Amino acid sequence: MGSKAGGARPGPRRTRRAVLFGGLGLVAAAAVAGRDEIARTWWLLPGVSVPRKEGELDHAGASWTAASPANWRLADRPHDYRVDRIVVHVTQGGFQSSVDAFRDPWHRASAHYIVRQDGHIEQMVRELDVAFHAANRSMNERSIGIEHVGYVERRKDFTDAMYAASARLAADVCRRYGIPVDRKHILGHSEVPGADHTDPGPHWDWERYLRMVREALAAGGAAPSGGTAPSAGTAPSAPPA
Ligand SMILES: [Zn+2]
Repeated sequence: MGSKAGGARPGPRRTRRAVLFGGLGLVAAAAVAGRDEIARTWWLLPGVSVPRKEGELDHAGASWTAASPANWRLADRPHDYRVDRIVVHVTQGGFQSSVDAFRDPWHRASAHYIVRQDGHIEQMVRELDVAFHAANRSMNERSIGIEHVGYVERRKDFTDAMYAASARLAADVCRRYGIPVDRKHILGHSEVPGADHTDPGPHWDWERYLRMVREALAAGGAAPSGGTAPSAGTAPSAPPA
């Protein structure tokens, strides 16, 4: 390890470590790092997490049922993990059985949202948190999981109302995190590296879905702005189409 003449000075990396590993280091770190750094790292202190309220929602118009805490991991996205993917799923079961599964601590899986055939959206995990939906840790950490009620082999399960509601939801997510609307950033569970699931399957109309997401995004009036932090619970969504 080399050092310049005059001796190495503590850099940002050392500051971060002080915040991470030394309780009293926070004071020193605050003096050095400034408010921006603290804003990003204060939640790393033991016992500190972003204040949140039971039932608080990320997508206007959704209902809330809490998934079992065993089925997701507490986080503070997008501050700790960048959110830049949406993973599309199909439940292979009914709405209530999917809700019940995510509430079951032994299920070991969940998604942020479940979209029903009538357009109803149930949120079960906050977007702040990491839902276990993609069976891939890094994909879970960077993505929002959207389940659609139905069976991959039944095209008729994917109704107009479902596409419309899911597209508005996806557009809202894309707008709030600055996610581009394309097939790299909006992908199926079957496309997740290592996936052994086939959803959403051959009947999911990707062309239609992405077009509807773009339309909903345009109707919402704001283009993706890149890395903008969402406001918890109060973000406006696109108006009904
Ligand atoms: Zn899936």
